[in-house]
Amino acid sequence: MVSFDKNDKYEILRAKMVKNHLMRRDISDPAVLDVFRRLPRELFVPAKYAEDAYGDFPIPIGIGQTISQPYIVALMTQCLRLNDRCTVLELGTGSGYQAAILAMLAKKVYTIERLPMLSEGAQAVIGDLGIENVEFYIGDGSKGWPDYMEFDRIIVTAAMPEVPAAINRQLKNNGLLVAPVGGPLYQDLLVIEKKDGTLYSKNVCSCRFVKLIGKYGFDETA
Ligand code: SAH
Repeated sequence: MVSFDKNDKYEILRAKMVKNHLMRRDISDPAVLDVFRRLPRELFVPAKYAEDAYGDFPIPIGIGQTISQPYIVALMTQCLRLNDRCTVLELGTGSGYQAAILAMLAKKVYTIERLPMLSEGAQAVIGDLGIENVEFYIGDGSKGWPDYMEFDRIIVTAAMPEVPAAINRQLKNNGLLVAPVGGPLYQDLLVIEKKDGTLYSKNVCSCRFVKLIGKYGFDETA
């Protein structure tokens, strides 16, 4: 298990975030709460926003992209019901915060980002933290992981008009996929389970993500 500096000045803010924004809502999985108490979120936002890192709102991470509010990251993580045997595909590395959270709960995380600058930043932070079970790819995640693979879990952290067939194909049987699906402004957060090759979808809540831009996502201009 990766351990981080416990005496940093953000520890109190982190504990408050978990209590006020996660536990007071519907985040109750002890393993999920534990990783949110440990991972230093301030390292994943631009330095000028470090003091705001534990507020329950999205924060700009550059190039028009945002790191999701902690509650949404926690909700999506909890919906994935992870264990240390799971392989996870993430579309939309962004700051790398969600990837790091997943890496602390799963066996291995494969994460795709279309913007090289963001992927490189995420690789640096995750590397500095000593988290070693994350593989990065720069490219269009709407086409799935470039070498065909099947994953126990898939998480999409950008809005998509529908889940592309290429992504559904990379989900293992009995696997879970969580994704914001809908229009460019508002989406439904869906949890999709694959059982005997059939997909069963459950709508968790409405949400607002930046667009997944790519072949099976939105156009840049949509
Ligand atoms: N999970 C991130 C937040 C992601 S914001 C975090 O924890 O910080 C959504 C990200 O998806 C943005 O960085 C955006 O550049 C990226 N993105 C958009 N379209 C994409 C695509 N087709 N493939 C991969 N990444 C994409």
